[in-house]
Amino acid sequence: RGKEEGRNRSEFFHQKMNEMIWEKSELENKLRLGLINQEFRLHYQPLYDVMSEKIIGFEALLRWSTPDLGLVLPDKFIKHIEDTRLIIPLGNWIIKTACQFAGKLADLGYQDLSVSVNVSVLQIMNEDFAAAVMDAIQEANISPKSIHLEITESRLMESYDLCVQNILKLKNEGIRFAIDDFGTGYSSLNYLKDLPVSTIKIDKSFIRDLSFNSNNNLTELIIILAQKMGLEIVAEGVETPEQYHILKTYRCNIVQGYMISKPLPEEDTIKLLIERNQ
Ligand code: C2E
Ligand code: MG
Ligand code: MG
Ligand code: MG
Repeated sequence: RGKEEGRNRSEFFHQKMNEMIWEKSELENKLRLGLINQEFRLHYQPLYDVMSEKIIGFEALLRWSTPDLGLVLPDKFIKHIEDTRLIIPLGNWIIKTACQFAGKLADLGYQDLSVSVNVSVLQIMNEDFAAAVMDAIQEANISPKSIHLEITESRLMESYDLCVQNILKLKNEGIRFAIDDFGTGYSSLNYLKDLPVSTIKIDKSFIRDLSFNSNNNLTELIIILAQKMGLEIVAEGVETPEQYHILKTYRCNIVQGYMISKPLPEEDTIKLLIERNQ
């Protein structure tokens, strides 16, 4: 009996494995086709300055829409894109497209607005990364100062040694770096003083918990820490006036979230700027 159960279990296991492998390669094929068929888009979400009450930049966020799956959000496929190394060609396209968007903004007179691009450590580790970014900037005829690169805290700390050269190269060219999802990793705070970054983005899980009648000490402390270290601080995932108000009292000067705007297609970002009289 035991034997049979064991065999059934192992058959079940193999069947599951086969399904998983099949699903995986099917997704991989879809992603490859998507790249060829230009199914990827960038949407842009405003970063808003609390003091001036103005949009000061946009974050580029990847969108994938396929005929059969519809709109797919990055959390569903970014890891897969990294595992299959498709992130290298796709990442180059993302940087190029974001730089071109910054170029369009500049042509319309918005040359002071920044464009933030999420980059994977797999991209930054790549020898050609710095050159690829600088090429995209030159091709779009924009200032390197208008491009910010966002790296997730946990991933950056895992692979810092492999990334630091490219980060320093680009920093010397005037590109700014932000730590994304700050506060969610297990990293020690010790690294903050040496890291060549200009900005910390507090993860939206901290912002979600902010309210007048709860204890907001940890979020306040992160903001104070950033200020003491001379770092810019962005709160992401700001959805309500209450969260906004609390952040304002802590002098967190840059906010991003549905309260200001959802990520928008390129044409709508320009409309938004014009509507806001900016
Ligand atoms: P992230 O860089 O931390 O981006 C912020 C995420 O929060 C975005 O999700 C955005 O749509 C969402 N968000 C913005 N405001 C609000 C809000 O008020 N409430 C809530 N609940 N969510 C809000 P999205 O676009 O699904 O992207 C998820 C993650 O995928 C990003 O997190 C980033 O890590 C990654 N990602 C997105 N685009 C790219 C890309 O072009 N390249 C790479 N390597 N990663 C990307
Ligand atoms: Mg980001
Ligand atoms: Mg984030
Ligand atoms: Mg994130």
